[in-house]
Amino acid sequence: MRVRRFTAALAAIGLVGLVGCSSDAGDDAGTPDATVPVETDAEFDAGTTMADLAEAGTITVGTKFDQPGFGLISPQDVPEGFDVEIAKIIAGALGIAADDIEWIESVSANREPFLQNGEVDMVVATYTINDERKQIVDFAGPYYVAGQDIMVAAGNPLAVEGPESFADIRVCSVTGSTPAGYVQENFPDADLTLFAEYSLCAEALKNDQVDAVTTDNVILTSFVAQDPESFELIGAPFTEEPYGIGVPLGDDEFRSFINDVLEASFEDGSWAAAWDATAGAITDTPAPEPPSVDRY
Ligand code: GLU
Repeated sequence: MRVRRFTAALAAIGLVGLVGCSSDAGDDAGTPDATVPVETDAEFDAGTTMADLAEAGTITVGTKFDQPGFGLISPQDVPEGFDVEIAKIIAGALGIAADDIEWIESVSANREPFLQNGEVDMVVATYTINDERKQIVDFAGPYYVAGQDIMVAAGNPLAVEGPESFADIRVCSVTGSTPAGYVQENFPDADLTLFAEYSLCAEALKNDQVDAVTTDNVILTSFVAQDPESFELIGAPFTEEPYGIGVPLGDDEFRSFINDVLEASFEDGSWAAAWDATAGAITDTPAPEPPSVDRY
């Protein structure tokens, strides 16, 4: 398994890029993949992305490295989370074992460019499907539906109740994300700080440099679960964020294949097991009903 990181220091000053920091976590790095089956006799039509990936025996996946419950890199350099498990399920259906996945940290702003320039084969990274993004990438899914929410300091000292507070408080979100877009569109005069990663917003909230962090409820819930002394969730989502698997624009066969795999995982319990082992465990919530795949 190979892992490539985005540099938070560069991210913080707004430079989006990769550095050549790679590591090989080896075969015994504790990857919780025992339950993800690997197809042993997968066959695909020649010339398809599936055939190419199966033949190569590896797939490059863009995911988050700083979001507990969805995509978080462990101290042993092993990515963990619901998105990571979903990616393993898809890789498994291609005949690719979890150890043969190459993980590339994809922050919110570089998901589209990474798909456009072939840096990754797919993105599984709390990635909202929307029409604007569909102009330049395609999406399988959704495999989960989140909603934008707000995290504040424990005790909610400024009595934030919902997005209307964005006009009066210092709010933090992430460049290239739909929650940042929501604030910019609806509260153009808001005091908005943009970082490359949500963990930097959480840190800024903890240090009283901002009053609130806004993004999807499931991302914030995991930050609160990890540090309830510092953080609190408002818990009143005000948008719908259907999470999709990003694939290069126009690769309809690959998109359709992933949709088949997702639907099978909804049916056979592997999707729910992935939830229970990751985001569900951290936030102590049962797996919801899986959403309906949108084969647009
Ligand atoms: N789901 C939203 C998005 O895709 C917010 C989470 C994120 O930035 O990853 O923009």
